[in-house]
Amino acid sequence: MEQIVYFSGKVKELNKFLKMLYTIHGKIVAVDIDNTLINVNKELKKTGYNINLYPNPELTEDFWVSEEGINILFNAGLIPTTTKFIATFITLGAEVVFVTSRNLKLKALTEEWVRKYFPGFEVYFTKEKHLLDADIYCEDDPQQIQKLISLNKTVIIPEWPYTKDFRVYKNAILYSF
Ligand SMILES: [Mg+2]
Repeated sequence: MEQIVYFSGKVKELNKFLKMLYTIHGKIVAVDIDNTLINVNKELKKTGYNINLYPNPELTEDFWVSEEGINILFNAGLIPTTTKFIATFITLGAEVVFVTSRNLKLKALTEEWVRKYFPGFEVYFTKEKHLLDADIYCEDDPQQIQKLISLNKTVIIPEWPYTKDFRVYKNAILYSF
């Protein structure tokens, strides 16, 4: 397994990650898009927004469907670590789907993006991701993470200033990228 596994983060987190991989076969992994699969924060920072604050009150639903918001999503690049994880999960026999809390006005745009970069992958739109009842989640939204952890789901979490404190949970796996 070592040859196909890529991980970036602290040793304790690597141990949790490996343990999760040993039982991943046949499981459903739901991967969030914004700031988990693609680096929206990097684009926000370039434009002068504060990314340490979550949620940033300036970044409303209306913002994300405005021209500025859509451009930021459009310009955000893939987070290579997350794409490597997806490849590993699939190799080990898991099913990977995307789940996003993006506004439904962005549905067509998002589906088109998924078709281009991840052909064949399903994408679900919901603000209550736990209702999807996936086995494992990849997520950066603290509110979603809190809910998923309370339901005893395993959550793989990219390390942002607003997520690093989740490390203390045994079913939370923090990774750097
Ligand atoms: Mg997100």
